[in-house]
Amino acid sequence: MNATDQATLKALTALAVDGVVAISTRRLAEEIGRSRTTAGTSLSRLSATGQIEKLRRGSGLQSSRYRLLTEKANQQESLTRIEASGISYAGVRDLFRSQDLYGAGRLWEAAPKGRLFTVTEIVGWNVTRSRDSARLQLMKLESLWIPLAESQADLTHSQRHLWMFLDMTAEDERANVDHLSALGGRSQPRLRVDLEWQHLWEQERNLARLGMERYAVVAERDILPRATRDEQAGCLLYRERVNASGYGTVYPDHWGIGAHRVVWWAERGRVPAGHDLHHECQVRTCVNVEHLTVMTRAEHIRIHKQLGLTLAECA
Ligand SMILES: [Zn+2]
Ligand SMILES: [Zn+2]
Repeated sequence: MNATDQATLKALTALAVDGVVAISTRRLAEEIGRSRTTAGTSLSRLSATGQIEKLRRGSGLQSSRYRLLTEKANQQESLTRIEASGISYAGVRDLFRSQDLYGAGRLWEAAPKGRLFTVTEIVGWNVTRSRDSARLQLMKLESLWIPLAESQADLTHSQRHLWMFLDMTAEDERANVDHLSALGGRSQPRLRVDLEWQHLWEQERNLARLGMERYAVVAERDILPRATRDEQAGCLLYRERVNASGYGTVYPDHWGIGAHRVVWWAERGRVPAGHDLHHECQVRTCVNVEHLTVMTRAEHIRIHKQLGLTLAECA
């Protein structure tokens, strides 16, 4: 943004009440110390770049009204930043991360907000299987602490209801999550942070089972000598025992542990909390640490999406 536009935006912000400002180009020109033409051009540019919205065109001495969109733009920008940083866990909001609310969440995410729809129209989006399941999800959204859907009588059909999906702020989500958590039960959302903890805990438990010194021994004695090299791809394939998910697995204490994990622990040390090991070669029996990459769970999910793999097939 150039200096003139910055000055214009600053002046508009200073004069705005509830994000709306009424101002003539003459007044604005005085405020920013530029010509009326320059002030007018600046307003057009801010409007074209979506930073302000013209609500009413002025005429003669009458002021035009503008809504400042910068707040919204800033919010959007920070949302984009959060998404880019990979904080979001598989793109599912915390609120919808429970068995009970997953379907409702999918429907809400897909729905245009603030417009009225019939159930038939909603079923037509192909997010829900049937009218009954659509109604069920809608009722779940309606019964939240801060509702995300509301129904109203259809004036043209007395038997019919229309539904509107409502927007949700981060505060709304927080309030709903707190409410459901307080209720307990199946609807209780699983928070990102809890999942990270669970992940860390499982890793710690595996390390404890194997014993801190013994994993190096297991890798050297039991895994690497029995691995065969795939000369072409460079993979080290451990196929002595393969678990149901297709991973080479060792059972030092009756508990199965991924062979690739044990070799990684032995050669590279622990995997940091909240991180996964990803097989770059996509071969799950491969124990070549050169083919493994440590990455955050969010990054891992992103890559698997790109590759068209689920995380259960954690290649
Ligand atoms: Zn490999
Ligand atoms: Zn992976």
